[in-house]
Amino acid sequence: MRDFSQDHRWLSINTATLRKSRGEDLPLPEILDACARLGIRAVSPWRDQVSAAGLSNVSKQVRSLGLELSGYCRGGMFPAAGAAGLKAARDDNRRAVDEAAELRAACLVLVAGGLPGALQGKAAHKDIALSRSQVRDGIAELLDYAKQARMPLAIEPLHPMYAADRACVNTMEQALDLCDELDPKRSGALGLAVDVYHVWWDPKLQQQIERAGQDRLLAFHVCDWLTPTTDLLNDRGMMGDGVIDIPRIRGWIEAQGFAGYSEVEIFSTGSWWKKPHEQVLETCIARHKSAV
Ligand code: ZN
Repeated sequence: MRDFSQDHRWLSINTATLRKSRGEDLPLPEILDACARLGIRAVSPWRDQVSAAGLSNVSKQVRSLGLELSGYCRGGMFPAAGAAGLKAARDDNRRAVDEAAELRAACLVLVAGGLPGALQGKAAHKDIALSRSQVRDGIAELLDYAKQARMPLAIEPLHPMYAADRACVNTMEQALDLCDELDPKRSGALGLAVDVYHVWWDPKLQQQIERAGQDRLLAFHVCDWLTPTTDLLNDRGMMGDGVIDIPRIRGWIEAQGFAGYSEVEIFSTGSWWKKPHEQVLETCIARHKSAV
């Protein structure tokens, strides 16, 4: 297992972590500059942040700063209540692949989607099996497109508390079943984003990491699970402040040959988004060394 205690060369910052500074929106160009100033070598931006700053501007900036992209967030949201919705999802996912390729991201992260309409507060139906089959079909279709763009797709299984509104792919096992079905030859075009927040509780976690193997382990996201958790989405903890044994999970992943970035992804309305972003970054660096 790599020694992270001496430096932060394998630290990546998911830019949602700095979405706000002192409670105010922080534009992506400022986030990128702040990361580069502290010697951070990689980031993973969100599409809405890129869109606000302009894709070509962001592309130029990451190149001039020498930043790598450990991932691009995110595609997915495949299920829809009708043909028009399915087509809109397909088109939007193709744009996400194109953007990720322009930014030279290591992978496009996929958050599958749940019951159509649930995220907006009113689910169109209760058939989660239908949503899961639409996810399967959506990934199958997108995979052909992504292969041509040479952009690997990383399915991120989400904690089951998000099954209704964000992702009906909820375990490593379920995500790997999709990989095995859609990419049986392990081409490297389809794999997983392993986010400790979503999978730390899974009794089969180590077993499924071993099943995934190096060619399916495309991204590693870290934060911590706070007790109590006061918000289902935006109360993620800083590494070391919660109950996840992150070094143990990283050890399992690296035993498979994973040698990529450890990407900090913290959504925190009540705490970290209220602090100055410089302080958040300094803490990410310190905890990367001591708690990851
Ligand atoms: Zn994640």
